Amino acid sequence: MPATIIDGKQVSASIRAELAKKVEELKARHGLTPGIGVILVGDDPASQSYVKSKEKTAHELGFHSETLRVPAETSEAEVLRMVEDFNRDPKVHGILVQLPLPPHIDENKVLYAIDPKKDVDGFHPVNIGRLHIGEDCFVPCTPAGVIELLDRTGVDLKGKNAVVVGRSNIVGKPVAMLLLGRHATVTICHSRTRDLAAECRRADVLVAAVGKARLITGDMIKPGAVIIDVGVNRVEGGKLVGDVDFESAVQVASAITPVPGGVGPMTICMLMKNTVLAAERTLR
Ligand code: NDP
Repeated sequence: MPATIIDGKQVSASIRAELAKKVEELKARHGLTPGIGVILVGDDPASQSYVKSKEKTAHELGFHSETLRVPAETSEAEVLRMVEDFNRDPKVHGILVQLPLPPHIDENKVLYAIDPKKDVDGFHPVNIGRLHIGEDCFVPCTPAGVIELLDRTGVDLKGKNAVVVGRSNIVGKPVAMLLLGRHATVTICHSRTRDLAAECRRADVLVAAVGKARLITGDMIKPGAVIIDVGVNRVEGGKLVGDVDFESAVQVASAITPVPGGVGPMTICMLMKNTVLAAERTLR
């Protein structure tokens, strides 16, 4: 029997409905409107389109939202000043600096300047450290989306073999930490892994975050495994595909995310969830 399709669009729509309700409550009970401050440097078309979707979602959820759009030539000092202004602004609870930044700006310097309490992308070392020691923190949005999809699909991770393919700081590593936090036995694979197929075949839960079209094929999947495909790759004809070969994997897995329509829609949703959380934390 082919696998169940894990519908990221549907899950993200229900999370958005929950968030909209929460925003109404925060406004009514506490006069608090969650606010997001976005900084976009330059005119990279992909970044512009991501920022537009973030603004649209923030607007739909009833957030206060401010976007600072500045030209690519803007100095690092000026960008740092914009971050500082958002750090001090009580209407802004979450700050997002759209990446990549132009090459003359030190990305880490900018990200590390964000107040960790407003770091809704979860890239500040304080939040990364807290994630590793299992304390309250902002979890990076795509990894948070992966776990939310698993939770809402009813996957019990305790004691399961989870294999994460990819070890980037923004996806692979945080996903692995989150799975470990749910008591899975976690293996992290990367470009130097000796026998990727063998590692993948041991997975009850497989998360692919590589960026290589259809790298993981059905014969590398344990029958009945749950597959979360983070990869987004454009192939011939402009089609988007994941890191998993969907056609062969769907015949072997018990549940699988499609690309597009799986993890993708979850990412913005988790950003909004983190922003609501940041706003709520100001009440404590
Ligand atoms: P990176 O390029 O930063 O990391 C890729 C990882 O894959 C690296 O750890 C690399 O290993 C590993 N890798 C590369 N080739 C192989 C191989 N042949 N076998 C095993 N491992 C390999 O990518 P990201 O983590 O940023 O993104 C991964 C994918 O997820 C991309 O397709 C990206 O577009 C997508 N993505 C999707 C998001 C969404 O919202 N849906 C959000 C973020 C990313 P090594 O460390 O050894 O180099």
